Amino acid sequence: MKTEIMAGVPVDCLTYEDIIREVPMYIKTGEKMTAISVNPQIIVEGKKHPEVIEFIKNSTHRIPDGIGIVLVSKLTKGNIKQRVAGFELMIKFLEYANENCSSCFFYGAHPDVLKDMLRKLEIEYPKMNIAGSIDGYTSLKDEEIVDKINQVHPDFLFIALGFPKQEQWLNRNLDKLNVSIFQDVGGSFDVLSGHVKRAPAFFLRFHLEWLYRSLSNPRRIGRIFQLPVFLFKSLLWNLKNR
Ligand code: UDP
Repeated sequence: MKTEIMAGVPVDCLTYEDIIREVPMYIKTGEKMTAISVNPQIIVEGKKHPEVIEFIKNSTHRIPDGIGIVLVSKLTKGNIKQRVAGFELMIKFLEYANENCSSCFFYGAHPDVLKDMLRKLEIEYPKMNIAGSIDGYTSLKDEEIVDKINQVHPDFLFIALGFPKQEQWLNRNLDKLNVSIFQDVGGSFDVLSGHVKRAPAFFLRFHLEWLYRSLSNPRRIGRIFQLPVFLFKSLLWNLKNR
């Protein structure tokens, strides 16, 4: 697997198929797969969270989650040709779990979002084992959350606390968890529950989902400006470190 460095952050050149193909091996051996999204926001804000960057460096799969990452790779003559969106990867993991009767644990999001998502997942993925869930506003301590997850020993753990909380939580607790596949999934529970709409077809077709989400949520509007900052930062870093 080839890896590219963007402004000091590693991103792996891989596809959905590459990742899914490796799942059975990780589940069988009990080795830990950490499928972590790398996107412009993380690269722009990464300096403020050095432990997150360190966690990404130590992860097994650093997915190119964003068309900006593909663009920088192209401009620097790299190998990343295809985006691996965190949301789509989660869907592929859920499909795998359904086909193979694997067990999944869901940690994060508002309690009502979590409840509505689980209700939908039960219908859409009837053979998947929903081993447990904890909402993202729980008063449980890290150790208690880890205990609850370990008691059911799930194959997959999806964690939806947003950046940087989800990566920080994983960084603190990864070693203590008996789980094979970990994924940080940001706002995916909100979309799967139906509380947040997916972008219209036009935005999806041109890989502009991030733009739709930024425009439709005033809290995220500032993220629009992160893309040019990310492009500038990554290209400058590449010039200096080539
Ligand atoms: N969240 C949470 N606990 C927190 C903060 C956030 O469970 O303390 C959840 C929030 O409810 C949402 C998700 O984390 O479901 C973050 O979504 P956002 O769209 O901000 O993340 P992104 O996709 O941009 O990483």
